[in-house]
Amino acid sequence: MTLSAGIEKFNSERFPAMEEKFRELEKGQSPETLFITCSDSRIDPSLMTQTEPGELFVIRNAGNIVPKPGTGELSVEATILYAIDVLKVKRVVVCGHSHCGAVTGLMNLDSLNELPEIKAWVGKSAEVLDRLESDTSTLNDGIKENVKLQLEHLLEFPSVSKAVAANELELEGWVYHFESGRVEFLD
Ligand SMILES: [Zn+2]
Repeated sequence: MTLSAGIEKFNSERFPAMEEKFRELEKGQSPETLFITCSDSRIDPSLMTQTEPGELFVIRNAGNIVPKPGTGELSVEATILYAIDVLKVKRVVVCGHSHCGAVTGLMNLDSLNELPEIKAWVGKSAEVLDRLESDTSTLNDGIKENVKLQLEHLLEFPSVSKAVAANELELEGWVYHFESGRVEFLD
């Protein structure tokens, strides 16, 4: 379906039943979850969690990467701080996924030599490579380690560590296997 046909269909078929909800949301948003996931087109956060508009505050980028605070990645940093300090979300989910192209690139950094911006971006997770057994690690191992690293980076934000220490915020690491619908919850 083209995008414009989709908008028409949404307005004629879905929106009427949701109008009241959107009117309510005009007053403001109070999502409980900051959901950080990959830009991959196969991931649909609201579909997989069956959430409604107003429930997820979302950051998406290639590889669901959270650069350490203070490294100049203001898009991610400012959005995290808005979610924590202003919206006061109760939970941050970092959701990686199966068959992730960004993590595939991370695990083969030399394959990105012709794509320097992408190499520099996924290279922000290069610490993952030090944590993997080089010969036996699978893509899924890399995907999990990548999620764990982003949770560690999140804890380097003073707002995040303070809220976690005060039991006002939970951090969760997920891997979504879109081909089966299964979500793996990491420790
Ligand atoms: Zn991905």
